[in-house]
Amino acid sequence: MVEKELSNFIANGTLIWYYYICKREVWLIAHGIEPPQENEFISIGRLVHEEYYRKFKKELLVDNKIKIDVLEGRKVIGEIKKSSKYLESAKMQLTFYLYYLKTVKGERLEGELLIPEERKRIRVKLTAELEKEVEKAVREIEQIVNSLTPPPATKTRYCKNCAYREFCWS
Ligand code: SF4
Repeated sequence: MVEKELSNFIANGTLIWYYYICKREVWLIAHGIEPPQENEFISIGRLVHEEYYRKFKKELLVDNKIKIDVLEGRKVIGEIKKSSKYLESAKMQLTFYLYYLKTVKGERLEGELLIPEERKRIRVKLTAELEKEVEKAVREIEQIVNSLTPPPATKTRYCKNCAYREFCWS
């Protein structure tokens, strides 16, 4: 995927995260259909991030595409999560950041997934295999978002904690 192509794509860190949870959610988020903000899951996640974030130097927004937590004094980018429940999503979101920084900005970095409440640090390296995976996700997100209607709701284990559950299932 060439530089211009990637930076013009719709995909961003948030959509990559949801892509690995629910394709329908990708469409809803991208089309501005916001979930209720009082959802407990969202609030706890935000609180964990805000509390833990104080220990970090800075948060950088790059090209309105990715928001990264830069670990102090190291060539590593961090991503803070509240639990390892959505580990695949978190890992691929961080992979997308690494891929974007390498492809668009020419920066080769490593990533660290931080789950402070579980005292976990998981190292993420951009392998050729992960690059292919993230390119596929970026292309599919483009197709999902450009569809006129969202993918149909499909019951999964994620629906229980999803902020859209009433929208999808009531
Ligand atoms: S409730 Fe389930 S189907 Fe609906 S958006 Fe959430 S995860 Fe997807």
